[in-house]
Amino acid sequence: MRADEMVNRYFLEAAETIDLPEEYYEVLQSSYRETDVQVPVHRDDGSLSVYRGYRVQHNGARGPYKGGVRYHPAVDISEVRALASLMTWKTALLNVPFGGAKGGVNVDPSELSTRELEALTRRFTASITHVLGPFRDVPAPDMNTNPQVMAWMMDAYSSKNGYTPAIVTGKPLAFGGAPGRRQATGRGVAYTLERALERVGRTPEGMTVAIQGFGNVGSWAALTLRDMGAKIVAISDIRGGIQRMDGINVDRAIEKVEAGGSVVDCADVDLLDSGEVLEVNCDVLIPAALGEVITKENVDDIKVDWIVEGANNPTTPDADQTLFERGVNIIPDILANGGGVTGSYFEWTQNIQQFTWPEEQFNERLREKMRQGVDETFGAADRWGVSPRQAAFAVAIERVAEASKLRGYL
Ligand code: NAD
Repeated sequence: MRADEMVNRYFLEAAETIDLPEEYYEVLQSSYRETDVQVPVHRDDGSLSVYRGYRVQHNGARGPYKGGVRYHPAVDISEVRALASLMTWKTALLNVPFGGAKGGVNVDPSELSTRELEALTRRFTASITHVLGPFRDVPAPDMNTNPQVMAWMMDAYSSKNGYTPAIVTGKPLAFGGAPGRRQATGRGVAYTLERALERVGRTPEGMTVAIQGFGNVGSWAALTLRDMGAKIVAISDIRGGIQRMDGINVDRAIEKVEAGGSVVDCADVDLLDSGEVLEVNCDVLIPAALGEVITKENVDDIKVDWIVEGANNPTTPDADQTLFERGVNIIPDILANGGGVTGSYFEWTQNIQQFTWPEEQFNERLREKMRQGVDETFGAADRWGVSPRQAAFAVAIERVAEASKLRGYL
């Protein structure tokens, strides 16, 4: 199922839950503005490559548009559109004062030199600069973009408009980046689980956890949960998975990955296929790599009681329904991985006011925001008798609809 079809399905179910008038659907489902530009790049060998770049601004009723920019050959307008609307629902659910947007260029950055990547980033930024602004639209990193790419975007924008660090988030710490932002999505995943467990009288202490994906989100979720007393029993990355039921040494696994290797290079562990990590017999599963990995084909092999969606769209709607009926607790993506955009909000506010929080303050505020998101989502799920995912979308849609109505869009 395409990402936009999945998001539409979740939107419609949630809209019914809150009796949203049907005449509001089109304004809330479709994008406000879609910018589609050509991105020519002079290659090092003298040839010219032309890519397509997109910036989709879905809904800005609650604040400036906010969302990442991804560089990937599969980027197209329908994917960017779906991801932009997910950002609208995520920012509303976490109650940060932003709308939703997403951007991307259909390029494989591994084929570009650093000079070519910089040229591409500067050209793309210049082409969409008229729809950006610290109070209009604030990009961030996403798949295959990083603090260096944000630094180039910020510089390209600032060269026309004056020093404007608040134009992007996820910047390097050397100028305007916020200590804690890089770790915020993974830590947020752990904080949502901690609070959801607390609501049923449990703690992460002693719980066994499997994590698919050991990049930014997976590794920081692992470290944070390990520090809360959980046991990380299985992890995987693109090369494969590992398992050790009395606990994997997370620091050692991070060292292997940071040295350019893989989790499969760790010693004293059993090896798994990459997909097998989803089926490990333990308490908690955290998909933190790709979308659509929990499907009707493997849902019957999933044995955990808790799923915390670090990745976007990891569960297909059919599998989601089966898991809900089986009583599996799912902390949905727009809540579980909302620590990233919440951290971006903290960075943006600090940039606007030209000061920097210490990392402890950043983490404390992040934890508060994530706990509040869990209480609002699970509280609404109990009240309406629906799944936490349906409740998360419904709470978000209610907030965006109210702001849109007050501003005269509905
Ligand atoms: P990353 O590139 O740092 O890490 C991705 C990890 O997934 C790597 O360990 C990689 O080896 C692994 N992987 C890739 N293909 C795999 C496969 N086929 N099987 C198993 N593992 C595989 O990315 P990230 O920033 O950690 O993002 C992970 C997910 O979280 C993505 O879905 C992303 O959209 C989502 N997300 C990230 C953020 C953020 O702030 N980084 C915020 C919200 C959502």
